[in-house]
Amino acid sequence: MTEVNSEQIKGRCLCGAVTVTVTGPLGDVSACHCSACTRWTGSVLMGLEIPRERVTYAGPIKSYASSSFSERAWCENCGTAVWFADTEGEGAANLELSPGLFDGFGGAALTRVVYADCAPSGVVLGGDLQRVSKADYEATHLHVEDAE
Ligand SMILES: [Zn+2]
Ligand SMILES: [Zn+2]
Repeated sequence: MTEVNSEQIKGRCLCGAVTVTVTGPLGDVSACHCSACTRWTGSVLMGLEIPRERVTYAGPIKSYASSSFSERAWCENCGTAVWFADTEGEGAANLELSPGLFDGFGGAALTRVVYADCAPSGVVLGGDLQRVSKADYEATHLHVEDAE
């Protein structure tokens, strides 16, 4: 094991009641323009996909089952988004932590956007990103049908 892999990166919510510690590198940030993420965040969800066993957290975290296979968690006190996570399937091994818990996203960079073709008018995430369409994403991942 290298020193980099045992590095601890600490984050917190806006009020400080929720703390999150990640052991090892944060990896890359991905963004999602699906309708559920847009509604929950009010704009666009960004997440750092981290194996659950590398994450510890403490504080008043509430969660909501946003579909039959996923949940969204936040600080009960200040409302800061803490994570999105699958609760079944192979993605359930990970938490998608909010990058903003960590100062400067913990140095992580945005590299990928999913539901890229569903971005609201005027919202274009710049740079050399991997852009995955709704159709391509839903071909290989659990998703919620557009029921509303
Ligand atoms: Zn808080
Ligand atoms: Zn989404």
